[in-house]
Amino acid sequence: MVVGDIATGTEVLVIGAGPGGYVAAIRAAQLGLDTTLVEKDAYGGVCLNRGCIPSKALVTGADTAHEAATAEEMGVHADPAVDLAAMQSWKDGVVDHLTSGVEKLCKANGVNLVEGTAEFVNEGTVRVAHSGEGQGSETVEYDHAIVATGSQPIEIPGFPFDEERVLSSTDALALEAVPDSLVVVGAGYIGMELSTVYAKLGTDVTVVELLDSAMPAYEDDIARTVRTRAEELGVEFHFGEGANDWEPRGDGVRVRTETDDGTESTYDADRVLIAVGRRPVTDTVGLENLGLEPDENGFLPTDEHGETSVDDVYAVGDVAGEPMLAHKASAEGEVVAEYIAGEPAAMDFQSIPAAVFTDPEVGTVGMTEAEAREAGFDPVVGEMPMRASGRALTLGETDGFARVVADGETGFLLGAQIVAPEASELIAEVGLAVEMGATLEDVAATVHTHPTLSEAVAEAAKNADDAAIHTLNR
Ligand code: FAD
Repeated sequence: MVVGDIATGTEVLVIGAGPGGYVAAIRAAQLGLDTTLVEKDAYGGVCLNRGCIPSKALVTGADTAHEAATAEEMGVHADPAVDLAAMQSWKDGVVDHLTSGVEKLCKANGVNLVEGTAEFVNEGTVRVAHSGEGQGSETVEYDHAIVATGSQPIEIPGFPFDEERVLSSTDALALEAVPDSLVVVGAGYIGMELSTVYAKLGTDVTVVELLDSAMPAYEDDIARTVRTRAEELGVEFHFGEGANDWEPRGDGVRVRTETDDGTESTYDADRVLIAVGRRPVTDTVGLENLGLEPDENGFLPTDEHGETSVDDVYAVGDVAGEPMLAHKASAEGEVVAEYIAGEPAAMDFQSIPAAVFTDPEVGTVGMTEAEAREAGFDPVVGEMPMRASGRALTLGETDGFARVVADGETGFLLGAQIVAPEASELIAEVGLAVEMGATLEDVAATVHTHPTLSEAVAEAAKNADDAAIHTLNR
């Protein structure tokens, strides 16, 4: 049925229901603003449907299988059979639970939900083409608009995604059978998480990376620890090689790569996963009708309140810039909603943590030692290797370290880098410390439960002050 074009008005219009958009919409509605949220695909965005949640579900599934298969030293003998289709339906159940929860929360908070694709017509007006064929459209007039359209995987020349042999991260999260072999192009965090998952499920994984290390955005010792463990799991790395193209090889692929000096190599596998990064979605929302232009990296520049160069148009989440992480998107969503409601909210990027769910995990927050030096501090650094942690030994996972960075003059915590089991959780303590302006002494004097991994954070803080008990001081 064609509904026709009806006009509605709203105080706050949010485009995109990922962790940036739905959080902004709920907060705006909580603060009494009449709020409309438009989503063209699925509530929860990439994070809940094709990103954080499905990938972490598969990380858990792969870890469970791998731990069961490798626990002989602990006296556990098992030979688990992996049914990836069953793992996928468990994962889908987790995703459905969360996405329907988002929809219910929006409704319960009084957010008007519109399913369709939004496009700016001019300042103050958006046209929404309703989802589903022949469903018509509506015009929404807004006082404030929040662009939360997120990002999508980057394709590279020679490798258009086909969902069968040339996979995006979305496709790799939905495989129904474990491939015998997989070439992964790109050793960033998404490439490394998925390489680890499939290596643990029994796939022969070959990683091809243009730069000279895995996780090139991280410090050398972090990247080295993750790479070494991945190699132990059977992942084969080829650095300094660019993927040129591929050709069918039986039911699989033959991937051709080339180094800077023109040396060519080929790798055969069942499938190839392209994980070279993500690009902000700015081209399908009619920004040109507002005169709003992305910067040279494709992001929409914003001020500390999330406002773009166009009055009353805000941007949050992946579309608004790095770091492209769900919790950064949500934090921005809350700030923008509160600012629109007249509250004195502003973004503070100093203590936004990041986590990578490899084996071991990586958690970082704030500054590295080099960044602290560059920012004019004279930093002190303290470290605790996980092999000295009683809890890490009882888990059988001793790779990695906890490191804290502080201002040498005042002792204020500036940042931390943790490579350890549960580093994604451990980093929260240091995030709070950085946010509150805590000192090394505050962290060191906080009595931590024994035996826990978190003791390593306190011990690293003591180490920075030459007062570590369980490791030799630097
Ligand atoms: P998105 O989640 O991308 O949502 C944008 C929404 O806008 C989409 O639902 C889209 O359909 C909708 N939309 C776009 N255009 C329109 C339009 N014109 N009209 C209506 N709707 C529109 N981050 C973490 O913090 N931790 C992790 O562990 C993590 N793991 C990840 C793993 C993978 C494999 C991937 C791909 C990403 C991962 N991320 C992770 C990143 C995280 O998913 C993103 O940072 C986050 O989803 C960004 O949220 P967002 O709200 O900006 O946009």
